[in-house]
Amino acid sequence: MVETFYDVMRRQGITRRSFLKFCGLTAAAMGLSPAYAGKIAHAMETKPRIPVLWLHGLECTCCSESFIRSAHPLAKDVILSMISLDYDDTIMAAAGHQAEAIIEETIEKYSGNYILACEGNPGLEQEHTGGMSCIIAGKPYTEQLRHAAKHAKAIISWGSCASWGCVQAASPNPTGATPIHKVPDLGNAPIIKVPGCPPIAEVMTAVITYILTFEKLPSLDRQGRPKMFYSQRIHDKCYRRSHFDAGQFVEKWDDEAARK
Ligand code: SF4
Repeated sequence: MVETFYDVMRRQGITRRSFLKFCGLTAAAMGLSPAYAGKIAHAMETKPRIPVLWLHGLECTCCSESFIRSAHPLAKDVILSMISLDYDDTIMAAAGHQAEAIIEETIEKYSGNYILACEGNPGLEQEHTGGMSCIIAGKPYTEQLRHAAKHAKAIISWGSCASWGCVQAASPNPTGATPIHKVPDLGNAPIIKVPGCPPIAEVMTAVITYILTFEKLPSLDRQGRPKMFYSQRIHDKCYRRSHFDAGQFVEKWDDEAARK
C-alpha cells in the first residue's frame, strides 16, 4: 500500500481537525483561495508521500532549531512529519552506519523522486588544499551533497547559508563556503531557494505541499525563490508606506521630520 503524508501525520498523532487546519493555512500561505484547502487535503490523502533527505553543511543549525522549537505545535508536528522521515542528521534517531544506510536506501528506492533539502553550505576550499572539514560518515559533506543531488527531483536551499552563503562565506572565507547553486558538478535538479536566517518553517511545508498537490515546482523569481512567498516586500505592504511615498520620513535622529 502506498504511504501518504496523511497516513504519516495520523500515525504521529495529528488529529484530522489539525490536518484540515494545516491544509487551510497552507492554502492561505500560498495565496490560494480557501477552495484549494480541499484540493491540498485530497492530494495529501491520496498521493504517495514525497521523501525528503535533509542534509547539513557549514551552518549554525538554527534553521532546524527554529522549527523544532516552534511555539505553534501544529507547525512543528506537521513539519516533522513531512521532513524528518527519511534522513536528517541533526534530529534523526539513527546514527552511524544505520543512518548512512538510510541515505543510500532512499536514493536507490526513490531515485528522481525525492526532495533534497540543504541546510548550510559546503566548504570547497578543501578540494584544492586536501584539507578535511565538515566530515560526515568519513567523507566531506560536499561528496554527500553531490551524490544525493544527482538523483534528486528538486533541491531546496533551506536558509540564507544554503541560498547565499551567509556568515561563513564572508571575506576572507577561509573554507571556501559556497551557496548550493554555485557548487560545481551538482547535477541538473532544479534548485529552489528559501532564504531567511532562519527562514519561516511554514514556507518549507508549503513548498513541499505545492509540489505534491500540483505535481510541478512553484514558479520562481529571478533569484530562484518561490514567487508566492517572496514576490512582495514588507515595505510595500506596510500601512505607513503612504507616508514614505509622500516623503514623510526621518533621515536623522531628531531631525525636522521627526518633530512633525
Ligand atoms: S541561515 Fe541563519 S539560521 Fe540558518 S543555519 Fe545559516 S546562520 Fe543558522
